[in-house]
Amino acid sequence: MTKSISFIPCYDFSTTLNAAYVKQILPLMVRHNVAANPINYAIWYDYVAGNNAKLTEVVNKLISQQIPIDSEISIELYKKHVCNASLESFEKINEHIQKVIAQASISINDTYKKAEITNDSFQKKTLVLENISKATDIKIVLQEIIQETQSLAATSQAMKNKLDEANKEMELLRLELAQVRQMAVTDGLTGLLNRRAFDMTLAEIVGQSEPDKTYLSLLDIDHFKRVNDSYGHTVGDNVIKFVAALMKKHSEDHHHVARYGGEELAIIMPNTSEDKAIEISENIRSSMESSRLKRKDNNQPLHKITLSIGIAQLRAGDDSESLVVRADSALYQAKETGRNKVVHLSN
Ligand code: GH3
Ligand code: MG
Ligand code: MG
Repeated sequence: MTKSISFIPCYDFSTTLNAAYVKQILPLMVRHNVAANPINYAIWYDYVAGNNAKLTEVVNKLISQQIPIDSEISIELYKKHVCNASLESFEKINEHIQKVIAQASISINDTYKKAEITNDSFQKKTLVLENISKATDIKIVLQEIIQETQSLAATSQAMKNKLDEANKEMELLRLELAQVRQMAVTDGLTGLLNRRAFDMTLAEIVGQSEPDKTYLSLLDIDHFKRVNDSYGHTVGDNVIKFVAALMKKHSEDHHHVARYGGEELAIIMPNTSEDKAIEISENIRSSMESSRLKRKDNNQPLHKITLSIGIAQLRAGDDSESLVVRADSALYQAKETGRNKVVHLSN
């Protein structure tokens, strides 16, 4: 069986090779002052492994121009040059499927041809048997028939083995494809739907749902720049993850929670009453207000972090854009009137 293709760039699993990489990756990350999180590690892993020419070229350029590789740049590098590798994997999986199918059909063809030849031979031997009477001659023909039958059985068994193998490979490829598909709609930091998936989901829901029973909440972390400035981007990232988890916790299973932009998140709520949409948004806001977050590294408490949320109701004649614009106006009003609040503009 051929080696299965990993959906994320084909990483080598050798412990010695990876131990050697780690010795180069970590000092590089320290030198360039980047946090050793999985996203950054993936970038610098590719850089050290030297198997991602475009990424190496861009990183070398940033280094030579002395541009600090901050979280925003890292996320861009990851999205463009590491995640895109998953698109390549998608194509590789496709090619692999074609190969498995081609091999299986060669085997089926071989067996079919062999069965035809054997069938012809059996017909000829039937005629021979009809015209001979000596027992020794009949024995010779029967032995030939037995041999041909055994040979055909062996070819059929070989085909069965090939098809079983192909089945197993197809199952592995099916799982890998499902993972690639999942990755394509998932935000790497929060595990929520990414922006692309948000746009697609919203368009679908706006096109299908009953107006008046669908709501969109847009959420923005208040003074998030201060969080980054006071504690650094890694802490900032963890705050975004915390807010994402709160949104998942308070929303319902049929709602769609997404990362709309950097520190802006959204919930699409089909089949939901106005009271429920407000209650969910309010629960998220108040949970955040009463949470006392601590830094993971030194257990020091962070200052109080709050959220502003704008809600809009889907109306007849709306498209995705007009709905987002209304939710954004509500969010703007929440910011303008003091932050840490939920605003629903009902007209
Ligand atoms: P406001 O209350 O008006 O929303 O103030 P703000 O400081 O949150 O303002 P703004 O929305 O303009 O700033 C958002 C900042 O979030 C800017 C950007 O550096 C930061 N940011 C965006 N994406 C990420 C991310 O993925 N991780 C981290 N740590 N910071 C991010
Ligand atoms: Mg913002
Ligand atoms: Mg903000």
